[in-house]
Amino acid sequence: MFLRILLVAAVGVCLDMENKAKTTTYTENGLLQTPELYEYLLETSVYPREAEPLKELRALTSTHPRAFMAAAPDSGQLVAFILKLINAKKTIEIGVFTGYSLLLTALTIPDGGKITAIDVDRSAYEIGLPVIEKAGVKHKINFIESQALPVLDRLLEDPENKETFDFAFVDADKANYKNYHERVVELLKPGGVVIYDNTLWGGTVAMAEELVPEDRLGTWSAAVEFNKHLAADARVQISQVPLGDGITICRRL
Ligand code: SAH
Ligand code: CA
Repeated sequence: MFLRILLVAAVGVCLDMENKAKTTTYTENGLLQTPELYEYLLETSVYPREAEPLKELRALTSTHPRAFMAAAPDSGQLVAFILKLINAKKTIEIGVFTGYSLLLTALTIPDGGKITAIDVDRSAYEIGLPVIEKAGVKHKINFIESQALPVLDRLLEDPENKETFDFAFVDADKANYKNYHERVVELLKPGGVVIYDNTLWGGTVAMAEELVPEDRLGTWSAAVEFNKHLAADARVQISQVPLGDGITICRRL
């Protein structure tokens, strides 16, 4: 009996420790082991290579109350790497905000490249626009102020658009990721790549629901469901990378 009580107590302590570990892994500053390690990664490998206009845009965005929404520069570095690797020319950007990932894409694709960039709110885009213009890449961008779903549906109405895009970066409302995926997969060429941002949702995807901070709960289940959905989707090869807030890279097969 005594042993049994001891065992139950030990399991209780272990579970408690596990829950604690899960709570303390929640972070707004990247998902690496410590904030120092994340800082090291940025200072050593990312910032020295970050283009001047991107630094400028990041500084301009830093005072915005929703600055945390911008794509993380370490994720951005991998996005640019992949854009070059697949020689992307025709891309889609869903969720522009002040334009960090948009400018990154515009700076990376060749001069004749085109980005269809969609956001419901033009005002944040206008904050970044002077930097985009100064960088000389605005001609590559077709900004559409709209909900993203109807724009994707309109693109798909024309069969000429199917399987013509090289790349998509999806970073808008997480609850619609599944809907975006269905459309983007049809728009991508075989071998084309779509990257989803924030797929680890501040580390909360691994938490029990009752431990998820209130401000994260809104789209928490959407993120959890979406990750499962992608893992089961035979149309794409995937890699979930714990850079920034987690990005999932999918290559259309
Ligand atoms: N990629 C950006 C960050 C995007 S933040 C960067 O690197 O800075 C998310 C953006 O999605 C916001 O600007 C928001 O206005 C936009 N958004 C939210 N819901 C949307 C929807 N249904 N359709 C299009 N854009 C949407
Ligand atoms: Ca984001």
